Amino acid sequence: MNASPAAMERAPSPRRAVLLGNPNVGKTSLFNHLTGLRARVGNYPGVTVERRVGTIRTKGSLHAPIELVDAPGTYSLSARSEEEQLTFHEVVGPEGLGRPDALVVVLDAGQLARCLYLLVSLLELRVPLVVALNMADESDAATDLPARLSFELGVPVVSTNGRTGEGLDQLVSALVEVLESARAPTPRFQVAYDSTLRRDADRVADALPNDWKGSVERTRALALWALGTLEPDDEWTNVPAGLRSRVAEVRAEGRDIDLELAEARYAAIERLLVEVGDRPPLTRIQATERVDRILLHPLWGFLVFVLTMCVVFQALFAWADPAIGAIEWVVSAVQGLVTDMLPPGVLRDLLSAGVVGGVGNVIVFLPQILLLFLFIGLLEDSGYMARVAYLVDRIMRSLGLHGRAFVPMLSGFACAVPAILATRTLERRRDRILTMMVVPLMTCSARLPVYSLIIAAIFPLESSGPFPLQGFLLLFMYLLSVVTGLLAAWVLGRTLVRGRSVPLLLELPPYRAPRLAPTLVMMKERALEFLREAGSVILIATVLLWGLLYFPRSTETASPSGPTSVQTPLEDTYGGRLGKALEPVVEPLGFDWKIATGIIGAFAAREVFVSTMALVYQVEGDDENSAPLRERIKSERNADGSPRFSPAVGLSLMVFFAFACQCMSTLAVVRRETQSWRWPAVLFTYMTTLAYAASFLVFQVGRALGF
Ligand code: GDP
Ligand code: MG
Repeated sequence: MNASPAAMERAPSPRRAVLLGNPNVGKTSLFNHLTGLRARVGNYPGVTVERRVGTIRTKGSLHAPIELVDAPGTYSLSARSEEEQLTFHEVVGPEGLGRPDALVVVLDAGQLARCLYLLVSLLELRVPLVVALNMADESDAATDLPARLSFELGVPVVSTNGRTGEGLDQLVSALVEVLESARAPTPRFQVAYDSTLRRDADRVADALPNDWKGSVERTRALALWALGTLEPDDEWTNVPAGLRSRVAEVRAEGRDIDLELAEARYAAIERLLVEVGDRPPLTRIQATERVDRILLHPLWGFLVFVLTMCVVFQALFAWADPAIGAIEWVVSAVQGLVTDMLPPGVLRDLLSAGVVGGVGNVIVFLPQILLLFLFIGLLEDSGYMARVAYLVDRIMRSLGLHGRAFVPMLSGFACAVPAILATRTLERRRDRILTMMVVPLMTCSARLPVYSLIIAAIFPLESSGPFPLQGFLLLFMYLLSVVTGLLAAWVLGRTLVRGRSVPLLLELPPYRAPRLAPTLVMMKERALEFLREAGSVILIATVLLWGLLYFPRSTETASPSGPTSVQTPLEDTYGGRLGKALEPVVEPLGFDWKIATGIIGAFAAREVFVSTMALVYQVEGDDENSAPLRERIKSERNADGSPRFSPAVGLSLMVFFAFACQCMSTLAVVRRETQSWRWPAVLFTYMTTLAYAASFLVFQVGRALGF
């Protein structure tokens, strides 16, 4: 080597390549092989979509290292989910990420037509790229298919296997070659757009900002992209107003340009597939169709789905139980440890009741959340979730919801926070927001401890006779949340979140045996996210509440051991005074100031209600404060000696918890996902108003009927 010392000192600047392709074609599998799992996971600027970046170490180390990005999956460059917009920006680059030096486009050999659609747009943009023809092991593609495709497309095509890592050395050499030559592809293959479309494209091209333009082909491709994508109500940011108005002019002629583009491309793809001699693998299609005849059947399909959900929910409660018990045991052991090790005083009380109790409150829900994501991950990976979305699409859409809103709503039964993150799979902002607005009504696992406490307190097991009143009430609360959620979607979709719902354009993926490893990775990521999100809020809220119910302390000098700080009566603590002040507001709902204190805490997180009630009923207590919380609640009496928690009060309280927006994490995550304060404000206002009105009705009617 005879490089000058100066050149040797300068580290070679890395080249950037982006892995691109439809969802589920094996991008992440290839990424992991190529980068040896050393990914740095960051976020795209301003949003919380993950951006995974790794480094390919090429053999011989003569080249600069290649930086590889695992882009979110996308079906086209025009699609509109947040992920799909990011993909466009990643490739075209106006958002400040810089244009990549080359792309690695991953195709599923078994679904060539659908995968080629994205590739065609990329070729038109003349981005330097190599093609990884993945999953060849699952298709009957001929061995010379890569060579034939490469000849027609004018780019290297390498057959790969994301599971075994086969073909990756060839892929890397092809990539290095493309990076070194930096040559734009020159495909033989061309889409024949008709003359009107070409004229339209030229008109739009004039309005493109200068830094978007490139070669003639690239400029036309971007013009076609703008024509097929920009709409008055889309959510593309950073699109110059001049370009928008030009597109609007052309579109004003009333043609369906979107459709014309798609038809021209699919016709060209069909011709290409005939040319390269690709035939769809008949055996696989037949097997899939046989299974789909049952799973997509309006009756049998639903039956299978309901059975699946029964198993999932039963497992959620049954399997999580031992883990929950274990966590509770650990938490109380740690509390015991803290109590033993520290001298009595404010610090000890703070650590054991506030901090350890607060953290414990959160992790108790972790087993259920992990299990839910295990099930969702496996069902999704097998291809079943896409079938379910197809099945429920019609019902959901008649209520104004997107068919794919189903998965977030289902996740809402564990926790609204991950459920709101799951709305990212919806293409349009309008559908996402509508779903976010109703997901928090689903009976999340944080409501469960509250419901069981109240039900057990007002309807003791002995009193119910042969009729299982407790179970029935709990089931009723779950059904109530589903019905209310669907009704709320219907109302909100016609008022605050107006707009037409896009029909579900869903190509069903083939069935395949789900794998555990990717699901486990997802579970880990979700768990950390949950702990970070919820842990901080609940911890702070519990500590604050503990403080409110603990201070001010009064100093007692008469005690034999000298002056000590002692607990003031509960109603004189700051929390107690707050509850008293709120009492007139909640009295029409049947609540007294003690319940009001609990409700204040519950607005941070519902679980805090249970721990607050424990504080409220024990700090006040006489010496026999060891009775379980539900016993103490049951024995609470009004001034006239009647039970404080009558059925009307209990039901009103449960309805309040069902509807009120008592979860800071939910509000925070809605704020982050919508990038606006408007939607968390709407959510909080409508849910809490609904809760107040419904509780009022339940209590007043219940009392009038003598309950
Ligand atoms: P992504 O959505 O494009 O990132 O796809 P993933 O990398 O997550 O892969 C989706 C599924 O396809 C996983 O279950 C992989 O194990 C599987 N997969 C990936 N590559 C191949 C392959 O070459 N052959 C087969 N049979 N399966 C693959
Ligand atoms: Mg992936």
